[in-house]
Amino acid sequence: MADVTQLPSFTTIDLPALGQQLHTLLEKNCTALTNLLQKTSDYNWNNLLQPMEDMSAAVEKAWTPISHLHSVADTEQLREIYNTAISELSDYHMAVMQNAALYQAVAAIKAGPEFSQLEVAQQAIINHLLRDFKLAGVDLPAAEKKQFATLNQKLAKLTTQFQENVLDSTQSWQKHITDKKLLSGLPEHALASAKQAAERQQLSGWLFSLDMPDYQALITYADDNELRREIYFAFSTRASDQGPHDKKWDNSQTMQEILHTRHAMAQLLGFAHYAKYSLATKMAKTPSRVMTFLEELAQAALPQAKQEFADLVDFAKTHYQVDTLHAWDIAYYSEKLRQYAYAVSKEGFRPYFPAEHVINGLFAILTRLYGMQFTCMGSADVWHADVMLFSVSDADKKLRGYLYLDLYARQGKRDGAWMTDAYARRKLANGDRELPIGFVTCNFNAPVGNDPALLTHDDVNTLFHECGHAVQHLFTVIDYASVAGINGIPWDAVEIASQFMENWCWEKPAIDMIAQHYQTKELLPTELFEKLIRAKNFQSAMQTMRQLQFALFDFRLHCEYDTKQTDQIQVILDQVREKYAVFPTPTWNRFAHGFSHIFAGGYAAGYYSYKWAEVLASDAFSLFKENGIFDQKTGAAFLYTLLGQGGAQEPMTLFIQFRGREPSIDALLRHTGIIATKQTNKKVSTNPVSC
Ligand SMILES: [Zn+2]
Repeated sequence: MADVTQLPSFTTIDLPALGQQLHTLLEKNCTALTNLLQKTSDYNWNNLLQPMEDMSAAVEKAWTPISHLHSVADTEQLREIYNTAISELSDYHMAVMQNAALYQAVAAIKAGPEFSQLEVAQQAIINHLLRDFKLAGVDLPAAEKKQFATLNQKLAKLTTQFQENVLDSTQSWQKHITDKKLLSGLPEHALASAKQAAERQQLSGWLFSLDMPDYQALITYADDNELRREIYFAFSTRASDQGPHDKKWDNSQTMQEILHTRHAMAQLLGFAHYAKYSLATKMAKTPSRVMTFLEELAQAALPQAKQEFADLVDFAKTHYQVDTLHAWDIAYYSEKLRQYAYAVSKEGFRPYFPAEHVINGLFAILTRLYGMQFTCMGSADVWHADVMLFSVSDADKKLRGYLYLDLYARQGKRDGAWMTDAYARRKLANGDRELPIGFVTCNFNAPVGNDPALLTHDDVNTLFHECGHAVQHLFTVIDYASVAGINGIPWDAVEIASQFMENWCWEKPAIDMIAQHYQTKELLPTELFEKLIRAKNFQSAMQTMRQLQFALFDFRLHCEYDTKQTDQIQVILDQVREKYAVFPTPTWNRFAHGFSHIFAGGYAAGYYSYKWAEVLASDAFSLFKENGIFDQKTGAAFLYTLLGQGGAQEPMTLFIQFRGREPSIDALLRHTGIIATKQTNKKVSTNPVSC
């Protein structure tokens, strides 16, 4: 079995040609599919599903460079190509999934004698396909089928528009400062980075953008209230009717139309609302189960969150004579309180986390745990000079895939951090194999001057998270792309592998592998590590409530959407805040207008997934706490079950196989310090509440 993986070439890319290639390929696939269906009426894996898998892989190869570059190196030209491509893809996908003859052919394979002889992964692909045909409207009468396809096409355009508005309004704002006094409080690192940004535009002084590293630095450290208020105002009103931004990027109408379109699609298929449609492919199954889960967690965390905020108010009053804390004061005084209570500043850790050492340490942890080896490929053909490419092998030195790391913030790159699959692992019809490729993208501070890039512990956590996704994608044992790696996994189970990996950032033996002072080469001193651990659960209930508010807002919005109401987005957001926020938010805050996860990403009626998966990840990690965090036997079991099987099996089945029982929320509550040691053995709840 030969490895025939071909790495994409980014330096020689001809974008217009790529757009044209995709167009031609989609047409070719449609013809090929029609021919396949006409050739025989006796369908089986080899004469129908294997060719379909091949066609999907070809589409993925043509689409990956376009979609990836659109996220990390956006240009006007690329946008045009991307928008055409996404529209054509949406049409293609609908044409395939609404093809009644194809649906019947796949159904015939499921009902036939071959099905029981197929591998579990092949059976999963057939089951997923039959489900997805229905979710694309294959059963609908012709007119409604067409309507569904048109709505789907419209949705693809709207979500792209939403994302572009966020990016454009983010990038159009900058703050030029020439009076250093205004920047009092800012760490050296942030100042140096802003100075470099100013120099790049031939300006004196310091230049700040709304990119995450700049926003975080100003909101957390700037002593000047007005400056903090100004950046908060700009950041929290991006792409909206408020704030300093051009109103041409206002997402208000786009958001309404997105919700309207999703609701109409769900109703055409007979679902009461989009949340039910969304759950048809998820682990949680019913809206009531999601709402109960979120409400139970909120009930557990709210009293402590209120107490944490009261402590912050007391602290600001006693030490800074501040009577009222505004939204733009929270991060600033929280950081002061953290430093006061734990004598630890987030910035103080940067010198111990030079990016390259952290990456090597992370790989060394994966070697120790699972035997994986990562080798840097020096002369990689990549889209930016900062990007690194690694080949990845297993304990038997067998090549398993490739990983790209693109870590630093820059213009034209979408904010946030994410991992995407370029290609998935798959066995070809002739027995050869293509290996998986993953992209890990972050937005950390780039190196400044002659120093290496220095990360905060939060950055390290983010890197571990995204590499957790990558490990799942690259170390799959499944040979069928549609359910290999991260493919085919229910959305609310995808974050298990990533959040699981974060745990190693909090263990001293692991920290000793990733932390080393960039000048003195010292390990992180035990005293500093202990401070880090003591501060770990600082304001953890407030953080939990923040995530739960996002999740409840998203879920209620998609459950309760009413075509007759026009201001429902802000109304539901306000209601959720009223019930669960521990401090007031200004009325002009337009958080929803930049909430790309649900309006542009795949988290619509699915943001709860983070917390849902965190329960499973915490509980899985608790077995490593029992057996040792580098216990290879436990590592091998985790690698084979939850990491290795991709979407071929139900996540709950895999979890029980690994853990020996169903998940309990206790591990999560203990990890975040919300309960101390008390055991309640609460299962993930199934009690119904109305939604
Ligand atoms: Zn993630």
